[in-house]
Amino acid sequence: MLKNWRQLSLTTKVMFGMIAGIVVGLLSRSLFPESPMVTHYLTNGLFHVVGQIFITSLRMLVVPLIFTSIICGTCSLSDASTLGRLGGKTLLLYLLTTAVAITLAIVSALLVEPGVGANLESVSNFAAKEAPAITDVLIRLFPSNPIEALAEGNTLQIIVFSVLFGISIAAAGEPGERIARIFESMNEVMMKLVALMMNLAPYGVFCLLAKLFTTIELDAIVSLIKYFLLLIGVLFLHVAVTYCTLFKAFTGLSPWLFLRKMEDAIMFAFSTASSNATIPVTMETATHRLGASNRVASFTIPLGSTINMDGTAIMQGVATVFIAQAFSIDLTIGDYLTVILTATLASIGTAGVPGVGLVMLAMVLQQVGLPLEGIALIMGVDRFLDMIRTAVNVTGDCAVTCIVAKGEGGLNEAVFNDPDAGEKEEEIDFHHIR
Ligand code: ASP
Repeated sequence: MLKNWRQLSLTTKVMFGMIAGIVVGLLSRSLFPESPMVTHYLTNGLFHVVGQIFITSLRMLVVPLIFTSIICGTCSLSDASTLGRLGGKTLLLYLLTTAVAITLAIVSALLVEPGVGANLESVSNFAAKEAPAITDVLIRLFPSNPIEALAEGNTLQIIVFSVLFGISIAAAGEPGERIARIFESMNEVMMKLVALMMNLAPYGVFCLLAKLFTTIELDAIVSLIKYFLLLIGVLFLHVAVTYCTLFKAFTGLSPWLFLRKMEDAIMFAFSTASSNATIPVTMETATHRLGASNRVASFTIPLGSTINMDGTAIMQGVATVFIAQAFSIDLTIGDYLTVILTATLASIGTAGVPGVGLVMLAMVLQQVGLPLEGIALIMGVDRFLDMIRTAVNVTGDCAVTCIVAKGEGGLNEAVFNDPDAGEKEEEIDFHHIR
């Protein structure tokens, strides 16, 4: 039995972990609903501790991984104009897909009318943060102190510094080459560390989901069923129509194979509800399974995890319309355009971590004068939806990565077309660890 378990691929093990976690969570809530022993030792004990260690160890990898891989990626680019083109295309595609996502969400919600009939009245006032001004967003891209940016894990600032650092390495000639070799070795070591930590994944995923499904409010889903199903429907539609069409049109490759190869990243995104914590897996998927070159993926994946949140944008579109309908408030076309603009801007500079979509939603509601207590309305079902939309977010990052890589001659089609490429869990030779 143990031998068989060892022989399974990581993907299969994580899948087992997920299913077992969901089943154990649901069983423990129905069999021991109020048992202090279960709550204390299992839910808030073992499951909580192992789950948190797993998430923290994934996050631990993010900053060093982004830093080293972007430097390696940029210093291997032939010239600055290549970098400009790469950056331009990536940004354009990220913003475009986000705008399409939110438009799709608003239109679907206006057609389905999930909130009509709820007839709620606004009573209290929540406080929302203002959406950041575009000028501030631009200024804040540049770190005054790169060490601080690294320490705080400010992804955009780390990207800016690493890109500039990489360009300088390339421009510095012989001393630059020496530094480049160090970073290349560092990058190899980081990838090994990622592979090492991945061995924890099946157990981490199991504990995360077991805890979540013991505590999640399932009743809320029933009362918000229209909102819940519509949101899931639009998320699937966006993946099936927008991504698959763009993918096919720009790469000529099979969108179905693309989605199949996304399984690891999707499972991690789903279990952690954080595109940021999933970066190590998304990066592996993009390079080893989809065949995108490191010079493209090292840049597009971390950038995407911060600024490309199509799933989150879809939630904001559907939620805005839902809340407006539930409180019987009419929004104008101008308001909807404001929603599209605010949601797109708010997604830039907001890191992909669990629940951040609700903070962004508060900004959007504030902007169009909708009552913020609408958020309380959908909060009960948000955690589960967060998991699904995070999976959509990382799928979008990888779709754009492949499209940009194809345009830049950085997509290895032999790897992409090989169904088993990168599938086997990377073996760590523990005998070499002394
Ligand atoms: N959890 C999402 C992500 O990390 C963000 C959100 O929608 O709350 O991409």
